[in-house]
Amino acid sequence: LAGNEWKKDPTIVKVRDVEIGGNKVVVAAGPCAVENEEQTLTVAKAVKKAGASLLRGGAFKPRTSPYSFQGLGEEGLKILRKASEETGLPVVSEILDSKDIEEFKRYADMVQIGARNSQNFTLLREVGKLGKPVLLKRGLGNTVEELLQSAEYILMEGNGSVVLCERGIRTFERSTRFTLDLGGMVAGKLMSHLPFCADPSHPAGKRELVHSLALASVAAGADMLLIEVHPRPEVALSDSEQQLTPDSFHLLMERIRALSHAL
Ligand code: PEP
Ligand code: MN
Repeated sequence: LAGNEWKKDPTIVKVRDVEIGGNKVVVAAGPCAVENEEQTLTVAKAVKKAGASLLRGGAFKPRTSPYSFQGLGEEGLKILRKASEETGLPVVSEILDSKDIEEFKRYADMVQIGARNSQNFTLLREVGKLGKPVLLKRGLGNTVEELLQSAEYILMEGNGSVVLCERGIRTFERSTRFTLDLGGMVAGKLMSHLPFCADPSHPAGKRELVHSLALASVAAGADMLLIEVHPRPEVALSDSEQQLTPDSFHLLMERIRALSHAL
């Protein structure tokens, strides 16, 4: 169902009134993690002003260390909902466990499957049944073909609204946090009718690299970008090194618009 042999015309995924997969690059931006109401509202207003179409934020965080900040859970989803009501931006947030499906039904507009759950097949089936658009990230050690097979689990449940996401894979290279596989994204777009998102923040690992990777993703044909933005990245409770300041995000949006114009 995810392959081009099944469906030739490009799929447009609708998240409330936002269309992903059309001519325009859709930008989802917001903090790595929802930390409190003030932080989330501040950043939501800033990214909206800069031209983002979706608000991203983690309420349930998949952290490598169990001692790291794990997110606010349901409280975080409520804060995102409030920020959405104040700004009009639809919300995308990551689900870690199918036990939380009801909360996502209530508070999220788009459900993210993170890289670490990209092959959690029971969760993929459950999220497929939920009937909300899904942002499906590629696993750290998965091929593009495996990503399409993961999408298949969601599509099989009758949910055709899936956006694939390239977020970097594990390679021998250590100069970036992960290797953003733009070649894989381009190849994936030829294999599937589904729209592709690129996340330049997580593979960059350092904010100095985010603009270049974002612009390269747009040039390579990304339908959507996922960018981490924090009002004060230096004190962020997660991914402090890679989050952009609101000013830097504003500048990035201007550069994306200029590039999109030229393409
Ligand atoms: C995220 O987007 O917040 C995230 C945890 O990303 P990934 O699953 O790609 O590591
Ligand atoms: Mn993050």
